[in-house]
Amino acid sequence: MSHTHVSDTLPVPPELKEILEDGENIAVITHVAPDGDAIGSMLGLVHLLRERGKVATPVCQDPAPYQVNWLPGVHEIQHVIPPDVDLLVSIDLSDVDRMGEPYDREAFGHLTLVNIDHHATNTLFGTVNWVEPRAVAACEMVYHMAQAFDWPMSTRVATYVLTGLLTDTRGLRTANVNARVLRVVTHLVELGAPIGEITELTFNRKPLSLIKLWALALPHLHVEPEGIIWTVITEAMRRESGHMEENDGGLVSFIASAEGMYVGVVFTEKEGTRVNISLRSRPGVDVSQVAFALGGGGHPQAAGATVEGTLDEVIPRVLQLLRESVRQQVGG
Ligand code: 5GP
Ligand code: MN
Repeated sequence: MSHTHVSDTLPVPPELKEILEDGENIAVITHVAPDGDAIGSMLGLVHLLRERGKVATPVCQDPAPYQVNWLPGVHEIQHVIPPDVDLLVSIDLSDVDRMGEPYDREAFGHLTLVNIDHHATNTLFGTVNWVEPRAVAACEMVYHMAQAFDWPMSTRVATYVLTGLLTDTRGLRTANVNARVLRVVTHLVELGAPIGEITELTFNRKPLSLIKLWALALPHLHVEPEGIIWTVITEAMRRESGHMEENDGGLVSFIASAEGMYVGVVFTEKEGTRVNISLRSRPGVDVSQVAFALGGGGHPQAAGATVEGTLDEVIPRVLQLLRESVRQQVGG
C-alpha cells in the first residue's frame, strides 16, 4: 500500500468572510427536492450565521426528506425568501433553476448571491462562487469555512454538518472518502455531534411505504448488455405504496451495486409529463456529463436531471445516451 497524505483543509476564498460579515439579514437557500446534505448544509450555515449575530433564514421550495426530518429546526424552513434580506447564499445548488419557485429574479436579482457548492457541474451563477468538487458534501465546505474563519461550531451546527456529510457519502461508503473526511468527522463527533443517533435515524429507518414502493419497482428491473441496470417508479406505484415523497430512499444506489454493472438508473414519472432521472455509477464511469447534457447535473458517481416527456419517450432516449457514454468510457 502506498501512503498518501491528504491535507486537513480545503481552501476557502478569503473574501467570503467579509461578505458574510457585512450581511445582516441573510437568506440561505438550497435546492428543490432537497437531500440530507442540502438540509444539513443550509441549517448548519443558518445557525453558524445566527451564532455570529445575524438574522438568517433557511429557504427551500420543498420540505425535508424523511432521512433528516428528525433534525431540530426543519419546521423553520421557509418556502419563500423574506422580502427584506440583504444577502443571498445558495448552498449545494449547481444551477440557478434548482432554487425553484422561491427565487424571483425580479425581486432578488439585484442582491449579492454567494454560491457555495461542491458539484463539478456548477454553472458559476453567483456574484461570488465557491465551488469545491473535492468536498464530499456541501456540509464539508461549511465545516472548512467555520475553521478558516475561526467561527466556533456549536454541537447543534456540528450535528447538522455531520448529518449532511454522512448522507452525501451514504454513511462514509462512497469512493471519495479519505483521511481528511475522517478527520472532519472525528472533529464533529468531538464537538458533540451524536454519530450513532444520526446513523440510526438517517440510515436505519425508512417509511414502510418506501419499502412497499421498492417492492413494486423492483419487478420492473432491466439489465442492458452494456452494464446499465435500471427500473421505473410510476405514479401508480407511488399511489399504491402510499409513498408520495419525492425520494427513492437509495433504490438507485441499491440496484447500481449489482456486480458487473457500470451504471444504475431510476426513472421516476412526474405528473405524467416529466421524468426524473437518477443516476449512479462505479468509480471510473462518470454520469454527471450525461446528466448535464439533459439539463441536470451532479457528481461523477451520482447525478440527475428532470426532463419533459413520458416514460416511453424518455427511457429509450436516456438509455441511448448512457450506452454511448459507457462505451466511450470503458471501451468496447
Ligand atoms: P439524486 O439521484 O440523489 O436525486 O441526485 C444525485 C445528484 O444529482 C445530486 O448531487 C443532485 O444534486 C444531482 N441532481 C439530481 N437531479 C438534478 C437536477 O435536476 N439538476 C441538477 N443540476 N442536479 C441534479
Ligand atoms: Mn451535496
